Amino acid sequence: MTAKRRVALLGSTGSIGTQALQVIALHPERFDVAALTAHSNRDLLFEQVRRFRPAFAALTAGETEIPEDLRFCEWGFGEDALVTAARDVPCDDVLVAVVGMAGLPSVLAARESGRRVLLANKEALVAGGGLVMDLCPPDEANPSLIPVDSEHSAVFQCLRAAGTPYESITLTASGGPFRTWDAQQLATATLEDALRHPTWNMGRKITVDSATMFNKALEIIEAKWLFRAEPGQIDVLIHPESVIHSMVHFRDGATLAQMGVPDMRTPIAYALGFPGRPESGAGALRLGAMGTLRFEEPDPVRFPALRLAYEALAAGGTACCVLNAANEEAAGAFLGGSLRYTGVAAVVEETLGRVPSTKADSLENILRADTIARQAARRLIKEGFPRKR
Ligand code: NDP
Ligand code: MG
Repeated sequence: MTAKRRVALLGSTGSIGTQALQVIALHPERFDVAALTAHSNRDLLFEQVRRFRPAFAALTAGETEIPEDLRFCEWGFGEDALVTAARDVPCDDVLVAVVGMAGLPSVLAARESGRRVLLANKEALVAGGGLVMDLCPPDEANPSLIPVDSEHSAVFQCLRAAGTPYESITLTASGGPFRTWDAQQLATATLEDALRHPTWNMGRKITVDSATMFNKALEIIEAKWLFRAEPGQIDVLIHPESVIHSMVHFRDGATLAQMGVPDMRTPIAYALGFPGRPESGAGALRLGAMGTLRFEEPDPVRFPALRLAYEALAAGGTACCVLNAANEEAAGAFLGGSLRYTGVAAVVEETLGRVPSTKADSLENILRADTIARQAARRLIKEGFPRKR
C-alpha cells in the first residue's frame, strides 16, 4: 500500500474543482484533501470543507464569518491565501483550477516549495510560462508539472507512450458553438448563443473562450511551454466530436492520439493518479455508436484568435501575457453585456498593437504588463471599440 497523496485544490468550487472532488471521492484510500479554496461561493465551499475536512480553506474574495463546526481547519482570506494554500500547507500535489491569471503566483509558489503542480489553469502558463517552466526541469519519471487541460493531457500521454522526440503536435478543437456560423451571423451572436457549447460543460469564461477560439489560442501558447515546442510545431484541427483529444506526430510517419469521451474527469484522474490510471467515473468511448469522426481546418478569417496567438508568440516577452489580459477583460465584458461577440478579438488585437512587449523575466514585470494591458483593453471597451461600420 503506497502512502496517500495529499492534494491542495485551488478553485474547488468551479467546474474543474468540483469534478476533481468527484474523482477524489472515488478513491478515499488514495487521496487526502489538504486545502480547498473558492473565490466567493462560500456555501459550496463550506459544504466541501464539511465533507473533505482539509487542514486549510480559503475564500479569496475576502473575509467572511465561518460557521462554528468549520473552525477545525485554518482559514485564509484574500488573494494571498492562494499562495498560502500552495506553499505553506503540507501536501504533495497542488491542483490549480482557479480561472484566470490570478493563478500564476500560486503555481510559482507551489513549485518553489517543491510541490507537484497539476495544472488546469492555462492562463498562468500563457502569462508566465517562462517563469513556470524554469521551475519545472524535465524529468520523465517524476514530472513536476502535469497538465489537466484535455488536449495537453493527451499530448503528455502520447509523449510518454512514444519515449522518443516528436516532430509536431496537433491540438484538436471542437470548433465551439459558432463553427458553422458565417460572418454575418457572428456579428449578431449573443451571450446565450456563446454559452451553448456543443460538447463540453465548463465554467463561463472558458465557454466564452471556446466560442471565440481564444481557448485554442491560449492552448497553443500553453503547449509551447509544456512541451518546449517551437510555434511552427503546433497546429490546430477542428474535430467537432471532441473524442480525439490531441495527436503527436513522429519522424517515422507515425501519429499517436489519445481518445476518450469528452469528460474532464479523465484527464483530472490521470493527473491525480499519475503514473497510474485510477477510475475517473467517465464513461467508455463507443466509436461504433458514433459512426463518423469529422475533421476540418480552422477558419482564420472568422476566428482571428489563432493568428493572434502565433503573432504574440513571435513577438515574445510579455506579448502573450498582454493577449491573455486583454482576452480576460474582453471575455468578461462580453459576459457582462458591454461588448459584442466580434468585439472580443478586435479588442485583443488592438490591445496587442497598443501595448509594447517588455521582458517577461520576473513575476513583477508580468504583473505590470498584465495591469497595463487590462487598462488598455478596458479603455477600448469603454470607448465602444470597435465602432460599427
Ligand atoms: P470556473 O469558473 O467554473 O471555476 C473557477 C474557480 O476559481 C472557482 O472555484 C472560483 O471560485 C475560483 N475563482 C474565480 N476567480 C478567482 C480569483 N480571482 N482568484 C481565485 N480563485 C478564483 O472555471 P473552470 O473550472 O471552468 O476553469 C478553471 C481553469 O481550468 C481555467 O483556467 C480554465 O481555462 C481551465 N480549464 C477548464 C476546463 C473545464 O472543462 N472547465 C477544461 C480545461 C481547462 P467561485 O466559485 O467562488 O467563484
Ligand atoms: Mg482544453
